[in-house]
Amino acid sequence: MASERQIDVGGVLIGGGAPVAVQTMTKTETANLEATMEQIRRVAEAGADIVRCAVPREQDVEALRTIVKQSPIPVIADIHFNHTLALKSLEAGAHCVRLNPGNIGGPEKVAEVIAKAKQLGTPIRVGVNSGSLPRHLRELEFTDPVKALVTAAVETVELMEGLDFDNFKVSMKSTSVPNTIAANRLLSQRIPYPLHLGVTEAGTKWSGSLKSAVGLGTLLADGIGDTIRISLSTFHAEEEVKVAWEILKALKLRERGPVLIACPTCGRLQFDMDSVVAEVERRLEAYEDPIEVSILGCAVNGIGEARHADFGITGAKDMGMIYSRGEPLKKVPTEDLVDELFAEIDRWYAAGKNVVVDERAAAEAAEWLAENEDATAMTPERLAALEAEKAREEADRAAEFAEASPTAGRRFQRA
Ligand code: SF4
Repeated sequence: MASERQIDVGGVLIGGGAPVAVQTMTKTETANLEATMEQIRRVAEAGADIVRCAVPREQDVEALRTIVKQSPIPVIADIHFNHTLALKSLEAGAHCVRLNPGNIGGPEKVAEVIAKAKQLGTPIRVGVNSGSLPRHLRELEFTDPVKALVTAAVETVELMEGLDFDNFKVSMKSTSVPNTIAANRLLSQRIPYPLHLGVTEAGTKWSGSLKSAVGLGTLLADGIGDTIRISLSTFHAEEEVKVAWEILKALKLRERGPVLIACPTCGRLQFDMDSVVAEVERRLEAYEDPIEVSILGCAVNGIGEARHADFGITGAKDMGMIYSRGEPLKKVPTEDLVDELFAEIDRWYAAGKNVVVDERAAAEAAEWLAENEDATAMTPERLAALEAEKAREEADRAAEFAEASPTAGRRFQRA
């Protein structure tokens, strides 16, 4: 269930049923205005809804003033330890400030920041990290880390409520995937505020993406989480954004750009599918519509599982085939498959998103498919034919039975 409350971060709604927002964090020194803006533009292009910048020094606040004006997406100032920087970031126009009340220097300093946020109408992200829990919860952290995290988060929420402030979202960060899942499940039942999800220090692009997909995906599939950040050890923040989108797209929570489907390949493969998939993926980045493109390594199952794809290719040793929504379009030499696939996609756009079929080429492709698919494979067509055949046989048997014994036949037909 989405959070009950909703906040507005520079025009991006978080929680209360709004689409799950994608966040990332710049990896540049914020004071390096040129590099930071360049990275913000790249992450915005990759689909980030919101970006966060670290503000550890005075010169970063100075840069922040310009960044918030030039950024195409809302900017969150990320503050640790120094409440003065939080106050200055709010004054600099940050669309939201992230702080962990536990490390900002005591309740009075938190209250000062919250008073300023209230005055300016700026939302705050309050959080707790497994690595920096308040002292009184450190023992509990060893025996019950989930309870420790949730307790710290609830105490933080109570602190905000005590300050008569409700314009905030909450995050609980842990490096442990099971703890992230368990803690957010518990917290989502206890508070009505939007939740920011992330597995902190998730790791490299490979392991971090998987950990995040498992942890965040599990929560998002349950409807928990209003905004996400994938933390990856890469300087390229746009990679985090791409992973976040893949998670949201996989769960059908949001749509953005094409969806690529590719078979895992096996011993039947007779062409360099790795390169074809990489090339198709690269070229699809230029398209914005959520078209589904499928790549099959062979025609063993006919078009099979990819018949719902808007466009697809099936390869073989020398020739392959291009199809659309289960219908063959044309056969082409393997080396031209990718170019011809994109030629068909572009033709579809040119025809107002209608598939253009050349009947002769389509017939040739259908013939090629019939010759190349495995005669023993259970294609959907063969399954349908088998089921129809079975139904016919049963009807014939019922008719014969009814003829031999009219009463039993009636019973049989009713059954
Ligand atoms: S489509 Fe062909 S190559 Fe790909 S996994 Fe299936 S049988 Fe193997």
